[in-house]
Amino acid sequence: MMTTAQTRPIRKDHPKSVRPDHATELQAVLAAWQSATDRLQKTHETLQHEVKRLTDELEIKNRELARKNRLADLGQMASHVAHDVRNSLVPLTLYLSLLRRHLAGSPNSVALMDKIDSGFTALEAIVNDLLQFTSQRDPMWQPFDLGKLVNDVCEGLLPQLEAQGIRTELDIPAGLTLVADPEMMRRAVLNLLLNALDVMRHGGELTITGIAICHGIELEIADSGPGLGDDEPRRLFEPFFTTKDGGTGLGLAIVERMATAHGGEIIAANCAQGGAAFTIRIPNRSMETVA
Ligand code: ADP
Repeated sequence: MMTTAQTRPIRKDHPKSVRPDHATELQAVLAAWQSATDRLQKTHETLQHEVKRLTDELEIKNRELARKNRLADLGQMASHVAHDVRNSLVPLTLYLSLLRRHLAGSPNSVALMDKIDSGFTALEAIVNDLLQFTSQRDPMWQPFDLGKLVNDVCEGLLPQLEAQGIRTELDIPAGLTLVADPEMMRRAVLNLLLNALDVMRHGGELTITGIAICHGIELEIADSGPGLGDDEPRRLFEPFFTTKDGGTGLGLAIVERMATAHGGEIIAANCAQGGAAFTIRIPNRSMETVA
């Protein structure tokens, strides 16, 4: 009788090696480990990059702060000097007018006096610009008629506008009221008009437009002068940027400071038909919010 040999079942697994399902698992773990390491490496690099960026930014901000502190010190010094110069100018102007009376009979002396006078006027303008620029007062809010204020400033300049043959068009709706600091606004408009006069020495068109916009007012002063140079719109508002002989480069910096003190802005652009346009935007305020 044939005995069935006790055959051992053939082992499908391999005792010495890892079971295939374990091997796959291990491979998956290794792959996950590798990808986690890669991600970690990437995160590390990103963080390093970010730390470098922030360090550079901090360094720039620190330098900017140091520059601003230096400028603030210089501003204070300039303001003291400007005060003293202005105080000394007052008696000198008086003596000059007395001297003018004494010399009235001598044409040569009168011509010399005129030259001295215009020198004094220029000096006074520089001192006033410096004082305006360095005084960082907050606006004294009150409601006023924008059209009336602009008209007053234009009337003050009428002799000069007429002498230079400048045609002025004023288009501001009656009763357009603004809550702002009228003195600061007057100064800003005057500075923009004086610049317009400077670029239209031989005549031109001055167009002043005021409108109510959503949440505020917009006042545009446009001239028919040569317009702005390519890189000028960025630099115009920098203190001391000037292309004029004897300019202080403070006029537009004062206008910008006035606009931002009111929570507004000023924009410079070239007009399509030639010339430059300066637009001041001031947001609406009610007297209750500023009281
Ligand atoms: P300043 O009049 O003393 O030069 P501003 O700050 O008022 O100082 O003006 C700075 C510069 O901006 C001027 O020197 C001029 O180059 C330019 N600028 C200002 N207004 C005009 C304008 N209406 N058209 C062309 N350029 C202008």
